[in-house]
Amino acid sequence: MTASHDPSTASFPCAAPAGDDPSVYRTLLESTKAIPWRIDWASMRFTYIGPQIEALLGWTPQSWVSVDDWAARIHEEDRRKTVDFCVAQSQQGVDHEADYRALTRDGDWVWIRDVVHVVRRPDGSVEALVGFMFDITERKQAEDKILQLQRELETLSYRDSLTGVANRRMFDTLYPVEWAKARALGEPLSLVVVDIDYFKQYNDHYGHMQGDECLRRVAQVLDQGAARARDLCARLGGEEFVLLLPATGEQVAHAVAERCRRLLAREAIAHARSGAGRSVTVSMGVGTIVPGAHDEAAVFLDRIDRRLYQAKSEGRDRVCGAEI
Ligand code: GH3
Ligand code: MG
Ligand code: MG
Repeated sequence: MTASHDPSTASFPCAAPAGDDPSVYRTLLESTKAIPWRIDWASMRFTYIGPQIEALLGWTPQSWVSVDDWAARIHEEDRRKTVDFCVAQSQQGVDHEADYRALTRDGDWVWIRDVVHVVRRPDGSVEALVGFMFDITERKQAEDKILQLQRELETLSYRDSLTGVANRRMFDTLYPVEWAKARALGEPLSLVVVDIDYFKQYNDHYGHMQGDECLRRVAQVLDQGAARARDLCARLGGEEFVLLLPATGEQVAHAVAERCRRLLAREAIAHARSGAGRSVTVSMGVGTIVPGAHDEAAVFLDRIDRRLYQAKSEGRDRVCGAEI
Protein backbone atom coordinates (compact mmCIF):
# COMPACT_ATOMS: atom_id res chain seq x y z
CA MET A 1 0.00 0.00 0.00
CA THR A 2 1.31 3.45 -0.82
CA ALA A 3 0.39 6.78 0.69
CA SER A 4 -2.52 8.58 -0.90
CA HIS A 5 -0.79 11.98 -0.38
CA ASP A 6 -4.08 13.73 -0.34
CA PRO A 7 -4.44 16.45 2.31
CA SER A 8 -8.19 16.49 1.86
CA THR A 9 -8.34 13.06 3.50
CA ALA A 10 -6.64 14.42 6.62
CA SER A 11 -9.10 15.20 9.36
CA PHE A 12 -7.77 18.48 10.66
CA PRO A 13 -9.26 19.44 13.99
CA CYS A 14 -10.14 23.01 13.00
CA ALA A 15 -13.27 24.59 11.57
CA ALA A 16 -13.32 25.15 7.83
CA PRO A 17 -12.23 28.72 7.06
CA ALA A 18 -12.00 27.76 3.40
CA GLY A 19 -15.52 26.45 3.23
CA ASP A 20 -15.69 23.07 1.53
CA ASP A 21 -12.94 23.72 -0.98
CA PRO A 22 -10.02 21.36 -0.24
CA SER A 23 -7.85 23.00 -2.90
CA VAL A 24 -7.53 26.03 -0.62
CA TYR A 25 -6.02 23.82 2.08
CA ARG A 26 -3.72 22.20 -0.40
CA THR A 27 -2.47 25.58 -1.65
CA LEU A 28 -1.94 26.80 1.90
CA LEU A 29 -0.21 23.63 3.05
CA GLU A 30 2.05 23.39 0.05
CA SER A 31 3.13 27.02 -0.03
CA THR A 32 4.50 27.21 3.53
CA LYS A 33 8.13 26.57 4.36
CA ALA A 34 7.07 24.12 7.01
CA ILE A 35 6.35 20.65 5.68
CA PRO A 36 2.96 19.20 6.63
CA TRP A 37 2.35 15.48 7.02
CA ARG A 38 -0.24 13.03 8.31
CA ILE A 39 0.18 9.51 9.63
CA ASP A 40 -2.69 7.10 10.13
CA TRP A 41 -2.31 5.69 13.64
CA ALA A 42 -3.72 2.21 13.03
CA SER A 43 -1.54 1.41 10.02
CA MET A 44 1.40 3.68 10.96
CA ARG A 45 1.50 4.86 7.36
CA PHE A 46 1.78 8.28 5.85
CA THR A 47 -1.45 9.40 4.22
CA TYR A 48 0.08 12.71 3.25
CA ILE A 49 3.38 14.56 3.18
CA GLY A 50 3.87 17.97 1.59
CA PRO A 51 5.77 18.01 -1.72
CA GLN A 52 8.19 20.57 -0.17
CA ILE A 53 9.89 17.58 1.48
CA GLU A 54 11.65 16.82 -1.78
CA ALA A 55 13.26 20.28 -1.99
CA LEU A 56 14.46 20.00 1.60
CA LEU A 57 15.68 16.41 1.87
CA GLY A 58 15.71 15.13 -1.72
CA TRP A 59 13.36 12.20 -0.98
CA THR A 60 10.15 12.19 -3.05
CA PRO A 61 6.81 12.38 -1.20
CA GLN A 62 6.01 8.88 -2.54
CA SER A 63 9.04 7.46 -0.74
CA TRP A 64 7.50 8.28 2.67
CA VAL A 65 5.29 5.24 3.08
CA SER A 66 5.40 4.22 6.73
CA VAL A 67 6.89 5.47 10.00
CA ASP A 68 9.80 3.10 9.32
CA ASP A 69 10.85 5.35 6.42
CA TRP A 70 10.77 8.30 8.78
CA ALA A 71 12.75 6.47 11.48
CA ALA A 72 15.30 5.14 8.99
CA ARG A 73 16.11 8.69 7.88
CA ILE A 74 16.83 9.93 11.39
CA HIS A 75 20.47 10.21 12.42
CA GLU A 76 21.55 7.15 14.36
CA GLU A 77 22.47 9.21 17.42
CA ASP A 78 19.00 10.82 17.52
CA ARG A 79 16.85 7.91 16.31
CA ARG A 80 16.16 5.89 19.42
CA LYS A 81 15.46 8.89 21.62
CA THR A 82 13.24 10.57 19.02
CA VAL A 83 11.20 7.51 18.08
CA ASP A 84 10.70 6.39 21.71
CA PHE A 85 9.68 9.89 22.75
CA CYS A 86 7.25 10.42 19.86
CA VAL A 87 5.63 7.01 20.26
CA ALA A 88 5.19 7.46 24.03
CA GLN A 89 3.72 10.94 23.67
CA SER A 90 1.41 9.86 20.86
CA GLN A 91 0.16 6.85 22.81
CA GLN A 92 -0.76 9.17 25.63
CA GLY A 93 -2.43 11.51 23.16
CA VAL A 94 -0.07 14.38 24.01
CA ASP A 95 0.97 16.95 21.38
CA HIS A 96 4.74 17.23 21.25
CA GLU A 97 7.87 18.47 19.46
CA ALA A 98 11.09 16.69 18.60
CA ASP A 99 14.39 17.95 17.18
CA TYR A 100 16.52 15.52 15.19
CA ARG A 101 18.86 15.28 12.22
CA ALA A 102 17.27 13.95 9.03
CA LEU A 103 19.24 12.31 6.27
CA THR A 104 19.15 13.93 2.83
CA ARG A 105 19.36 11.97 -0.37
CA ASP A 106 22.85 13.38 -0.86
CA GLY A 107 23.98 11.97 2.46
CA ASP A 108 23.95 15.30 4.36
CA TRP A 109 22.05 16.05 7.55
CA VAL A 110 19.35 18.65 8.09
CA TRP A 111 18.16 19.60 11.58
CA ILE A 112 14.38 19.19 11.77
CA ARG A 113 11.92 20.29 14.39
CA ASP A 114 8.83 18.10 14.11
CA VAL A 115 5.73 19.60 15.74
CA VAL A 116 3.17 16.86 16.23
CA HIS A 117 -0.55 17.07 16.95
CA VAL A 118 -2.51 13.99 17.98
CA VAL A 119 -5.93 13.73 16.31
CA ARG A 120 -8.48 11.79 18.35
CA ARG A 121 -11.85 10.31 17.58
CA PRO A 122 -14.91 11.39 19.57
CA ASP A 123 -14.38 8.33 21.83
CA GLY A 124 -10.86 9.56 22.68
CA SER A 125 -8.93 6.92 20.75
CA VAL A 126 -6.04 8.11 18.57
CA GLU A 127 -6.95 8.37 14.90
CA ALA A 128 -3.95 10.02 13.34
CA LEU A 129 -0.92 12.20 13.87
CA VAL A 130 -0.59 15.42 11.92
CA GLY A 131 2.39 17.66 12.05
CA PHE A 132 4.81 20.07 10.50
CA MET A 133 8.52 19.61 9.93
CA PHE A 134 10.58 22.79 10.22
CA ASP A 135 14.13 23.20 8.95
CA ILE A 136 16.06 24.46 12.01
CA THR A 137 19.57 23.82 10.69
CA GLU A 138 20.57 27.48 10.81
CA ARG A 139 19.41 27.83 14.40
CA LYS A 140 21.18 24.65 15.47
CA GLN A 141 24.41 25.78 13.82
CA ALA A 142 24.21 29.08 15.73
CA GLU A 143 23.53 27.18 18.97
CA ASP A 144 26.49 24.87 18.36
CA LYS A 145 28.73 27.87 17.70
CA ILE A 146 27.53 29.54 20.91
CA LEU A 147 28.21 26.38 22.94
CA GLN A 148 31.65 26.07 21.39
CA LEU A 149 32.44 29.70 22.22
CA GLN A 150 31.22 29.27 25.78
CA ARG A 151 33.65 26.37 26.09
CA GLU A 152 36.42 28.47 24.59
CA LEU A 153 35.68 31.17 27.13
CA GLU A 154 37.04 28.70 29.63
CA THR A 155 40.38 29.10 27.90
CA LEU A 156 42.44 32.22 28.48
CA SER A 157 42.32 33.60 24.96
CA TYR A 158 38.73 34.76 25.43
CA ARG A 159 39.11 36.02 28.98
CA ASP A 160 40.16 39.49 30.09
CA SER A 161 43.26 38.86 32.19
CA LEU A 162 42.66 41.78 34.58
CA THR A 163 39.00 41.23 35.47
CA GLY A 164 38.36 37.58 34.55
CA VAL A 165 35.22 38.36 32.50
CA ALA A 166 35.09 37.79 28.73
CA ASN A 167 37.30 40.01 26.60
CA ARG A 168 36.60 42.12 23.54
CA ARG A 169 37.60 39.26 21.25
CA MET A 170 34.87 37.11 22.76
CA PHE A 171 32.29 39.84 22.31
CA ASP A 172 33.38 40.49 18.71
CA THR A 173 33.04 36.76 17.98
CA LEU A 174 29.80 36.07 19.83
CA TYR A 175 27.86 39.22 18.96
CA PRO A 176 27.50 38.42 15.22
CA VAL A 177 26.48 34.84 16.06
CA GLU A 178 23.78 35.94 18.50
CA TRP A 179 22.72 38.61 16.01
CA ALA A 180 22.27 36.02 13.25
CA LYS A 181 20.37 33.74 15.60
CA ALA A 182 18.04 36.53 16.76
CA ARG A 183 17.41 37.40 13.12
CA ALA A 184 16.66 33.79 12.17
CA LEU A 185 14.24 33.37 15.07
CA GLY A 186 12.73 36.87 15.03
CA GLU A 187 13.79 37.21 18.67
CA PRO A 188 14.83 40.40 20.48
CA LEU A 189 18.50 40.97 21.30
CA SER A 190 19.59 43.55 23.85
CA LEU A 191 22.87 45.34 24.56
CA VAL A 192 23.96 47.36 27.57
CA VAL A 193 27.14 49.41 27.15
CA VAL A 194 28.68 50.45 30.45
CA ASP A 195 31.39 53.02 31.30
CA ILE A 196 32.71 53.86 34.76
CA ASP A 197 32.17 57.49 35.73
CA TYR A 198 35.13 59.75 36.60
CA PHE A 199 37.53 56.84 36.44
CA LYS A 200 40.48 59.03 35.50
CA GLN A 201 39.97 60.94 38.76
CA TYR A 202 39.76 57.58 40.61
CA ASN A 203 43.15 56.53 39.23
CA ASP A 204 44.64 59.94 39.90
CA HIS A 205 43.45 59.89 43.50
CA TYR A 206 43.87 56.25 44.54
CA GLY A 207 46.60 55.11 42.15
CA HIS A 208 46.61 52.70 39.23
CA MET A 209 46.78 49.52 41.35
CA GLN A 210 43.64 50.40 43.22
CA GLY A 211 42.14 51.43 39.87
CA ASP A 212 42.73 47.88 38.68
CA GLU A 213 41.06 46.50 41.79
CA CYS A 214 38.08 48.78 41.17
CA LEU A 215 37.81 47.45 37.60
CA ARG A 216 37.72 43.88 38.95
CA ARG A 217 34.95 44.68 41.39
CA VAL A 218 32.85 46.50 38.81
CA ALA A 219 33.32 43.58 36.39
CA GLN A 220 32.09 41.13 39.04
CA VAL A 221 29.04 43.25 39.72
CA LEU A 222 28.15 43.45 36.02
CA ASP A 223 28.72 39.72 35.61
CA GLN A 224 26.27 39.10 38.46
CA GLY A 225 23.78 41.57 37.01
CA ALA A 226 23.62 39.72 33.69
CA ALA A 227 22.81 36.42 35.31
CA ARG A 228 21.19 34.21 32.69
CA ALA A 229 23.22 31.38 31.18
CA ARG A 230 23.38 32.92 27.71
CA ASP A 231 24.14 36.47 28.92
CA LEU A 232 27.67 37.69 28.32
CA CYS A 233 29.55 40.34 30.25
CA ALA A 234 32.67 41.45 28.39
CA ARG A 235 35.30 44.14 28.98
CA LEU A 236 35.59 46.14 25.78
CA GLY A 237 38.72 47.92 27.00
CA GLY A 238 39.75 50.54 29.58
CA GLU A 239 36.81 51.08 31.93
CA GLU A 240 34.18 50.15 29.38
CA PHE A 241 32.08 46.96 29.42
CA VAL A 242 29.22 45.48 27.44
CA LEU A 243 26.41 43.11 28.37
CA LEU A 244 25.13 40.99 25.50
CA LEU A 245 21.64 39.74 26.33
CA PRO A 246 20.20 37.26 23.79
CA ALA A 247 16.45 36.58 23.69
CA THR A 248 15.90 39.59 25.94
CA GLY A 249 13.23 42.23 25.45
CA GLU A 250 13.37 45.91 26.29
CA GLN A 251 11.87 45.74 29.78
CA VAL A 252 14.14 42.98 30.97
CA ALA A 253 17.19 44.72 29.49
CA HIS A 254 16.34 47.87 31.43
CA ALA A 255 15.79 45.81 34.57
CA VAL A 256 19.23 44.18 34.11
CA ALA A 257 20.87 47.61 33.71
CA GLU A 258 19.12 48.99 36.77
CA ARG A 259 20.02 45.87 38.76
CA CYS A 260 23.69 46.44 37.88
CA ARG A 261 23.42 50.03 39.08
CA ARG A 262 21.82 48.92 42.36
CA LEU A 263 24.37 46.14 42.92
CA LEU A 264 27.19 48.62 42.33
CA ALA A 265 25.66 51.12 44.78
CA ARG A 266 25.49 48.30 47.34
CA GLU A 267 29.14 47.47 46.66
CA ALA A 268 29.89 51.08 47.76
CA ILE A 269 33.42 51.46 46.35
CA ALA A 270 34.55 54.78 47.82
CA HIS A 271 35.32 57.47 45.22
CA ALA A 272 36.31 60.76 46.84
CA ARG A 273 36.79 62.56 43.52
CA SER A 274 33.60 61.55 41.73
CA GLY A 275 31.31 64.22 40.37
CA ALA A 276 28.36 61.80 40.66
CA GLY A 277 28.39 60.87 44.36
CA ARG A 278 30.65 59.37 46.98
CA SER A 279 31.08 55.94 45.51
CA VAL A 280 31.96 54.51 42.11
CA THR A 281 29.09 54.73 39.61
CA VAL A 282 28.57 53.78 35.99
CA SER A 283 26.66 55.25 33.06
CA MET A 284 24.86 52.91 30.68
CA GLY A 285 23.30 52.90 27.23
CA VAL A 286 20.72 50.19 26.70
CA GLY A 287 18.74 49.07 23.67
CA THR A 288 16.83 46.20 22.13
CA ILE A 289 16.37 45.11 18.53
CA VAL A 290 14.70 42.32 16.60
CA PRO A 291 17.26 42.36 13.79
CA GLY A 292 15.76 42.66 10.33
CA ALA A 293 17.37 41.88 6.99
CA HIS A 294 18.60 45.47 6.60
CA ASP A 295 19.87 46.01 10.15
CA GLU A 296 23.57 45.88 10.89
CA ALA A 297 25.10 44.73 14.16
CA ALA A 298 27.77 47.45 14.13
CA VAL A 299 25.21 50.21 13.57
CA PHE A 300 23.11 48.95 16.49
CA LEU A 301 26.15 48.85 18.80
CA ASP A 302 26.96 52.42 17.73
CA ARG A 303 23.46 53.53 18.60
CA ILE A 304 23.71 52.05 22.10
CA ASP A 305 27.13 53.69 22.50
CA ARG A 306 25.53 57.06 21.73
CA ARG A 307 22.97 56.41 24.47
CA LEU A 308 25.84 55.81 26.89
CA TYR A 309 27.29 59.21 26.05
CA GLN A 310 23.86 60.74 26.47
CA ALA A 311 23.71 59.22 29.96
CA LYS A 312 27.09 60.86 30.62
CA SER A 313 25.93 64.24 29.43
CA GLU A 314 22.71 64.01 31.46
CA GLY A 315 24.72 63.73 34.68
CA ARG A 316 26.17 60.13 34.82
CA ASP A 317 25.12 57.33 37.23
CA ARG A 318 22.13 56.54 35.03
CA VAL A 319 20.71 54.35 32.29
CA CYS A 320 19.74 55.88 28.95
CA GLY A 321 17.41 53.88 26.72
CA ALA A 322 16.67 56.27 23.87
CA GLU A 323 18.24 59.09 21.91
CA ILE A 324 16.63 62.50 22.24
P1 GH3 B 1 33.70 59.69 32.25
O1 GH3 B 1 32.93 59.82 33.52
O2 GH3 B 1 33.33 60.69 31.25
O3 GH3 B 1 33.65 58.31 31.73
O4 GH3 B 1 35.20 60.03 32.64
P2 GH3 B 1 36.38 59.03 32.91
O5 GH3 B 1 37.40 59.73 33.75
O6 GH3 B 1 35.88 57.74 33.43
O7 GH3 B 1 36.89 58.73 31.43
P3 GH3 B 1 38.28 58.96 30.75
O8 GH3 B 1 38.15 58.34 29.40
O9 GH3 B 1 38.68 60.41 30.82
O10 GH3 B 1 39.31 58.15 31.61
C1 GH3 B 1 39.35 56.77 31.62
C2 GH3 B 1 40.44 56.34 32.52
O11 GH3 B 1 40.48 54.92 32.64
C3 GH3 B 1 41.79 56.77 32.02
C4 GH3 B 1 42.68 55.56 32.22
O12 GH3 B 1 43.79 55.86 32.99
C5 GH3 B 1 41.82 54.59 32.99
N1 GH3 B 1 42.08 53.18 32.63
C6 GH3 B 1 41.88 52.60 31.42
N2 GH3 B 1 42.28 51.29 31.48
C7 GH3 B 1 42.72 51.08 32.75
C8 GH3 B 1 43.24 49.94 33.43
O13 GH3 B 1 43.39 48.84 32.87
N3 GH3 B 1 43.57 50.08 34.72
C9 GH3 B 1 43.41 51.26 35.36
N4 GH3 B 1 43.75 51.34 36.65
N5 GH3 B 1 42.93 52.34 34.75
C10 GH3 B 1 42.59 52.28 33.47
MG1 MG C 1 35.60 55.40 28.78
MG1 MG D 1 34.62 56.57 32.11
